[in-house]
Amino acid sequence: MPEVVFPLDSTKSFTDQQIVGHNRWHPDIPAQVHVRPGDSFRVHCREWFDGAIHNDDNADDIRDAPLAGVHVLSGPIAVEGAEPGDLLVVDILDVGPIPQEDSGPLAGQGWGYTGVFATQNGGGFLTEQFPDAYKVIWDFTGGVATSRHVPHVAFTGIVHPGLMGTAPSAALLAKWNAREQALIDTNPTRVPPLALPPLPDSAILGSLSGDDFTRAAAEAARTAPPRENGGNQDIKNLTKGTRVFYPVFVSGANLSMGDLHFSQGDGEITFCGAIEMGGFMDLRVEVIKGGMATYGVSENAIFMPGNVDPQYSQWLAFSGTSVTLDGEQRYLDSHLSYQRACLHAIDYLTTFGYSAIQAYMILGAAPIEGRLSGVVDIPNSCSTVYIPTAIFDFPVAPSSAGPVKIDPGMGVPMSSF
Ligand code: ZN
Repeated sequence: MPEVVFPLDSTKSFTDQQIVGHNRWHPDIPAQVHVRPGDSFRVHCREWFDGAIHNDDNADDIRDAPLAGVHVLSGPIAVEGAEPGDLLVVDILDVGPIPQEDSGPLAGQGWGYTGVFATQNGGGFLTEQFPDAYKVIWDFTGGVATSRHVPHVAFTGIVHPGLMGTAPSAALLAKWNAREQALIDTNPTRVPPLALPPLPDSAILGSLSGDDFTRAAAEAARTAPPRENGGNQDIKNLTKGTRVFYPVFVSGANLSMGDLHFSQGDGEITFCGAIEMGGFMDLRVEVIKGGMATYGVSENAIFMPGNVDPQYSQWLAFSGTSVTLDGEQRYLDSHLSYQRACLHAIDYLTTFGYSAIQAYMILGAAPIEGRLSGVVDIPNSCSTVYIPTAIFDFPVAPSSAGPVKIDPGMGVPMSSF
């Protein structure tokens, strides 16, 4: 096992740890861990809500989720010799949940959760159809996820970090804040909001304190969106074996990571989120001097995905077009067409006895594939969602016999405002 350079104790909150990480992006957050090119090392990661979500049959914790405190990230980790303009090469050697049998300080998390935020506190991809808060608990056994809240479905985890990235420079941070505020200004009272501006409340900035903390907390970027530094990309294929090339914007690169997922469907459509969990990552880093200019990589990270996905040979796919549920035609709107593809799949799965929210949770957590199948055929964009048939323990394809009826079990816990 590589040396643990960023340890966490699961019995303590994020701010009581030996090394305190951060939950905002800012160039002045000091790196407390230093590694060299060629080093392999282990990092522990808290689940993104720092333990606020519990393994029970009640969704009040999702309804009241402390959104201002996310994402709790491990880092920054400085890489010796990395300078702005370089590419930071990050190999994901291993990534996994906290071992269940571990009796040490990391003990305990052989489970994870998928939540749907209430519209009043976070919202989500299908918030019009699902305005309340919901939660599903998944148990991990032998690398497979099952849930007492969504019976008759099981799938192998494609474990990955939802979030990893380098620190922004002061100029890049200012650019983010300006463009996101301009978007917010187009509809400042929208629920849920268009974007999340800097918020000193609940900000954690590593070892920064005093006036430095106050100034940085007022500027530091929230961690929800992916940006030029990578960040919260929620790419389910960043599994073990992945190599990522991150642009470097500050001296040392200052790499951070967190928001580990046991599994996720493309789009992380449930928003809270995939199957969220705490765990560990084993990483190795290298530096390509001047790599950003050499390879023209400045827009965002590029990557070579891992090869440990479960192999499915059969899929049932659903498509959607850019027409609203009310029948209004929109122009090549791929967000809308992906929503329609997902709603199409949800409607289909309810014919077997699942509730709509159970079907939604399957799409958010299971390794479904989402694709932009057509983006030029005016006026309709065509998005598709592919579901592996083998995740169900009943025949899920249409047949002349009609859908078998499953027992939907206890269902998904819900909480309303
Ligand atoms: Zn997540």
